[in-house]
Amino acid sequence: MNVLVINCGSSSLKYQLISSETEEVLAKGLCERIGIDGSAITHTPKGGEKSTTEIPMADHTDAVRLVIEKLTDEKVGVIKSLDEIDAVGHRIVHGGEKFASSVVIDDEVQKAIEECNDLAPLHNPANLIGINSCKAIMPKIPMVAVFDTAFHQTMPKKAYLYGLPYEYYEKYKVRRYGFHGTSHDFVSKRAAEIIGKNRDDLKIVVCHLGNGASISAVDHGKSVDTSMGLTPLEGLIMGTRCGDIDPAIVGFLAEKENMTADEVISVCNKKSGVLGLSGGISSDFRDLVTAADRGNEKAKDTLEAYAYRVAKYIGAYVMAMKGVDVIAFTAGVGENNQQMRVMIGEYLEWLGTSIDTEKNKLRGEEVILSKDTDKVVTMVVPTNEELAIARETVRLIK
Ligand code: AMP
Repeated sequence: MNVLVINCGSSSLKYQLISSETEEVLAKGLCERIGIDGSAITHTPKGGEKSTTEIPMADHTDAVRLVIEKLTDEKVGVIKSLDEIDAVGHRIVHGGEKFASSVVIDDEVQKAIEECNDLAPLHNPANLIGINSCKAIMPKIPMVAVFDTAFHQTMPKKAYLYGLPYEYYEKYKVRRYGFHGTSHDFVSKRAAEIIGKNRDDLKIVVCHLGNGASISAVDHGKSVDTSMGLTPLEGLIMGTRCGDIDPAIVGFLAEKENMTADEVISVCNKKSGVLGLSGGISSDFRDLVTAADRGNEKAKDTLEAYAYRVAKYIGAYVMAMKGVDVIAFTAGVGENNQQMRVMIGEYLEWLGTSIDTEKNKLRGEEVILSKDTDKVVTMVVPTNEELAIARETVRLIK
């Protein structure tokens, strides 16, 4: 089966065509600036060159049409016609309490996703536009929704309730949901496979450290806690998101800086994290490491604050699970940034784990960093959310 995996943002659309038999990416690409001047599609066929074409895209339906044109193109295409796409898998950010697993999309499912729009006003409407656009272009091809929140629906009440008046949970479903669920699920499963054990027998902490970052406690195969909350703003210090702060800061800054609460939250989402904390050096860890190596004090403080927050969460989740067998690093920073893994690793030694200097030099590869004799296995497991979505799509369509 060939599965087209779609990840729609408000003005972008990422795609991968994946063969479920070989799990190979046949082609991938990105439509950018949809509905804005200067829209462009970047397309890379398997084994071929990446190419960017500037072409007007009035809306996401135009974008999907272009994706199909590229996939079936004589020169850069990888299939002959639409008939070779067997299913579409959509990444959906928020499934609220309605979706604890992936589902085949029908009208009722679309309505239920729409009902979660309030919880993810930036993401879910865009995801729905993606579904409708694919429906318009490929009405007969079955589609599956894979939710970022679904894997964390196993969290117990004590982990997902906030210390707020209970009526807000009842009225508005204000609670912890968690995100990156597809990645936490994929990485914890793969981590268990790598050490030849069953995930259902293990206590695993997954550190998804990318531009967005979250940690989860996966206890005997189930997510029992995770650092992101009602929205992806809570938890770790991220690329541009602040993570945990005292909520009183919002009101305080609104008054001092003459901003609305929405404006302060926008600063918390877009101008904070390592970008803000470093005084604007960068949201990219490569730049921060370079700056710190050159002696920039703000960059050093930022990296230290980042590592400390990650370590604190790992500590909390070891306590939540009353133990830990595996700590897995993944995503851009977790897979590639050896300095950050060392900085976090220094906090973990008391747990009975270590980071081998030579193995830690590897980038973006599956590797066990700890020693065979260590009590806790520390490893790197590259995530692959698109493949996870394709697998889920096949599981539900077959
Ligand atoms: P992601 O959101 O998972 O794509 O992660 C993006 C982040 O990963 C970037 O902002 C970088 O800070 C980091 N990253 C990616 N590649 C490297 C690398 N080779 N070395 C250090 N950090 C990296």
